[in-house]
Amino acid sequence: MDWWVSMPKVELHAHLNGSIRNSTLLELAGELGEKGTINFSDVEHVILKNDRSLREVFKLFDLIHIITTDHKIVTRITEEVVEDFAAENVVYLELRTTPKRNDSIGMSKRSYMEAVVEGLRAVSTVEVDFGSHDLSTAADSSAISDKGNGTQRKKIYVRLLLSIDRRETTTAAMETVELALEMRHLGVVGIDLSGNPTIGEWATFLPALIFAREQGLSVTLHCGEVPNPEEIRAMLSFLPGRIGHACCFEEDEWSKLKSSKIPVEICLTSNLRTETIPSVDVHHFADLYNSKHPILLCTDDSGVFSTSLSDEYSLASSSFGLGKAEMFQLARDAIGFIFANDVVKKELVKIFASAARNLD
Ligand code: 5GP
Repeated sequence: MDWWVSMPKVELHAHLNGSIRNSTLLELAGELGEKGTINFSDVEHVILKNDRSLREVFKLFDLIHIITTDHKIVTRITEEVVEDFAAENVVYLELRTTPKRNDSIGMSKRSYMEAVVEGLRAVSTVEVDFGSHDLSTAADSSAISDKGNGTQRKKIYVRLLLSIDRRETTTAAMETVELALEMRHLGVVGIDLSGNPTIGEWATFLPALIFAREQGLSVTLHCGEVPNPEEIRAMLSFLPGRIGHACCFEEDEWSKLKSSKIPVEICLTSNLRTETIPSVDVHHFADLYNSKHPILLCTDDSGVFSTSLSDEYSLASSSFGLGKAEMFQLARDAIGFIFANDVVKKELVKIFASAARNLD
């Protein structure tokens, strides 16, 4: 097995609807094409296009949402996405998704999220721990679980982040936080702010984000995907648990970020594909890594950008001249930035320690 695949990994920035397999997306689009809901040949071209600007990515998401927003489909894609991450040895996955309301098919934000949880339960290729025993101390301490009948299955820890879309109002954002609080026993550990970065105002989301934090939820923010110094500074002052991207920072913002020690979710392929960063040799990964700022590698949207977490590690290794030992350490360090509790952190530490003994 490829070394990058066999290495255990922690994925903390993956959007559910961005991580759908292309084959599934095409199959679902084909079905809608037959029903006459969409024109399949137009859609096929959009799905298979490789390079997309940030603006085109958000157009694609609108299309994906038309194709996928149905309870059964949400359950199916959740199941497949978790299986895909587990297959490449992601041992802890924080999966984020925007709870969606669609009155015409009887979907509420809650029923959307229930369909996601159903997807976690439906996974059969691997054991999924999504937090039901966080309240006890009896977590299983290996990446392999014993089913009690002598057969063993791989195990993946999955926790959920509920995303607030930048198109939403304060009230809608607050609803998402309320829902997250009600679903904590089902593995929801935090809130993400995402969506088209050219839309919406920080002040709109702030009350919901403050409320989330007061109630004990962790918060991660998409920050600096477009130049917006005022918003970047406000976001850093908020001191979120993590930020994603950090592409369009100026000198002042870099120093503020570095003194804050806020971990940065780095999505290399996503940044390159959307041309938020012109080429990998000028990517801020290198500077943050060299200055020992907390960073972690993530996929963002493995389906939309045709990548995998193993590919991201391989790309970082070849682009920045880092060896396997350094990359293993980078993957292990991500344990410190997860939003799940210390019981899970301890289990992950053991999984990495055991892998360190077995990997050459
Ligand atoms: P979902 O939340 O529907 O499961 O995943 C897709 C959504 O995640 C998109 O509609 C968008 O709101 C958000 N998203 C995915 N990738 C990105 C990204 O690179 N930047 C930002 N700002 N939002 C993203």
